[in-house]
Amino acid sequence: MTDTHCPYCSLQCGMTLERNGSRLEVRARSFPVNEGALCRKGWTSAGLRGSRERLTSPLIRDRTSGAWEAVGWAEAIGLVARRLTALRETYGADANAVFGGGGLTNEKAYQLGKFARVALGTSQIDYNGRWCMSSAASAGNQAFGIDRGLPFPLADVEQTDVLVLVGSNPAETMPPAARHLDRLRERGGKLVVVDPRVTATAERADLVIQPVPGTDLPLALGVLHLLDAAGMVDEEYVATRTTGFEDVRRTCASWWPERVERVTGVEAGTVRALATLLGEAERVIVLTARGAEQHAQGTATVLAWVNVALALGMPGKEYAGYGCLTGQGNGQGGREHGQKADQLPGYRSIEDPADRAHVAGVWGVEPGSLPRKGRSAYELLSALGTEAGPRSLLVFGSNIVVSAPHAGQVAERLAALDLLVVADIVMSETAALADVVLPVTQWAEESGTMTNLEGRVILRERAVTPPEGVRSDLAVIADLAAALDAPSTWPDQPEQVFTELRRASAGGRADYSGISYDRIRAEDGVFWPCAEGDPGVPRLFADSFATPDGRARFVDVDHVGPAEELSAAYPVHLTTGRVLAQYQSGAQTRRIKELPDEGPFVELHPMLADRIGAHDGEPILVRTRRGELKAAAHIVTTIRPDTVFVPFHWVGVNRLTNDALDPSSRMPEFKVCACQVTV
Ligand code: SF4
Repeated sequence: MTDTHCPYCSLQCGMTLERNGSRLEVRARSFPVNEGALCRKGWTSAGLRGSRERLTSPLIRDRTSGAWEAVGWAEAIGLVARRLTALRETYGADANAVFGGGGLTNEKAYQLGKFARVALGTSQIDYNGRWCMSSAASAGNQAFGIDRGLPFPLADVEQTDVLVLVGSNPAETMPPAARHLDRLRERGGKLVVVDPRVTATAERADLVIQPVPGTDLPLALGVLHLLDAAGMVDEEYVATRTTGFEDVRRTCASWWPERVERVTGVEAGTVRALATLLGEAERVIVLTARGAEQHAQGTATVLAWVNVALALGMPGKEYAGYGCLTGQGNGQGGREHGQKADQLPGYRSIEDPADRAHVAGVWGVEPGSLPRKGRSAYELLSALGTEAGPRSLLVFGSNIVVSAPHAGQVAERLAALDLLVVADIVMSETAALADVVLPVTQWAEESGTMTNLEGRVILRERAVTPPEGVRSDLAVIADLAAALDAPSTWPDQPEQVFTELRRASAGGRADYSGISYDRIRAEDGVFWPCAEGDPGVPRLFADSFATPDGRARFVDVDHVGPAEELSAAYPVHLTTGRVLAQYQSGAQTRRIKELPDEGPFVELHPMLADRIGAHDGEPILVRTRRGELKAAAHIVTTIRPDTVFVPFHWVGVNRLTNDALDPSSRMPEFKVCACQVTV
């Protein structure tokens, strides 16, 4: 029996794995975030283990014939190392690029960042978490001086008076978390859900607000306008704990409720009701998720809601404040330890001389040898195979041809590379395009730490022996580093890597130096920041914020609107999201037979269905300026009549989405674009 955690989302539910002959059985385990509950993805998570699709030998593809050849590890590693070296010698270090994932353990994310900077000497590394939480991260850094998704334990939401969920659907994306919403309401607290769809979460809410996609920001501006007009701003808190309110106040002054109604489609009376509910509550928590964040104005949207929370005097107060519900399993830790283009471990900046010197010292290299900041995820993919862009790409823990926006163009860029190497457990859609595929261990076959949505560092323990022929990502990185004759040391055991990560993070914004595997086991996880000898910090901001002067920053933001406006040719909003039974690109969950997989569908309102002559269950065509998708119509009254929804777990959906980027976070606008819907 091995106590561990689910392989999927950021809740990281506790579970126990038990071997029963050749089978691996999942048991729910009581852990603070799930209290013994799991969703169906968690219950079935062992299903991939015995999959016949599992890769157990390195594969090399002949580009001319397309045929795959199984080869030994020495040959595969040798080939990749030789090609990487040749590209570097011919075109320079930035000819080689690396792409990571928000599902990788902290140890892998750390080692991948180090591998890119030290073994390859390239600045070209980023990861798919850029498409997940980066707008909330950018906003958190600007407003609070730190980016930890939730600055308090998740269970705190039960104790607040009003919980506002903006673009979040935990009842479907992380069902065990929904019990906190139920308990909140049993206590007499109110739940507000802001979402263009009446989701399973919205069905539990006291107030459901359905704005036009891409208008969560002006809704927040309108709420703050009303709070200010009614004298409900906590002036003492604003004066003593924040800076910058006057500019925000001026911007909000012009967002009277009727103007908000015109832009958002939310009735002025509903905006007033929300403002009154918030203004009269003693404790308010505002949580954003991808619905608010995955926009070209995602950072500004989060900041607008942070401004509401600050004006009410909530951040730092018990059972109150602002937080982001992270999505991917290690969405939090994955953005702290160096696989991001601008970052070194411990949430250090790759542009800061002191940060570079500290990390270079741990790695035993000269600070000057570390490259500078590289391209963000989508910009990196767009540059592949171009004159000025990378010629090779190494992918770990990501299925980019399914998950990237404007995915058709991404597939073209991958085809233009001299070398594509993918480390994966199965032949994902991205692996199928590779020159070399490296079969790696999966969850339950390896140990490693993850940082859940609360900033709690947890430990996944190895429960079973991996199949013969596969290696861990850490071993692959170590083998490649050795073949490239890289400086520094390259342990392949997770705890050894974590020991180095602790040193590299010491003194950084995400300080893990006081966290050890033994402490995690003994304490049900440890919250960062945690310096050597410290207990860890479950609740941030009680006394001060992580800014130089200790005050939170109001940031003045205004509404610009989605990058793509509706037009006669593209008259409907398209938004995307998840369904309960699937996870991310579906590379794992689509291969688990117990999970229903009927493919993508198009959810639309009966009024729109009538207009185009669509019938429930029959195929309809969604077309955007980038691509088209045919899928079955799901006709529901729970979506706005001007909007269609398509879940993104399948190939083709992201061929539709818009690659317009947020100027600060470089988040693509997954959540809204203009489309045409026809039968
Ligand atoms: S809620 Fe998330 S972590 Fe929990 S069982 Fe489901 S997928 Fe796994």
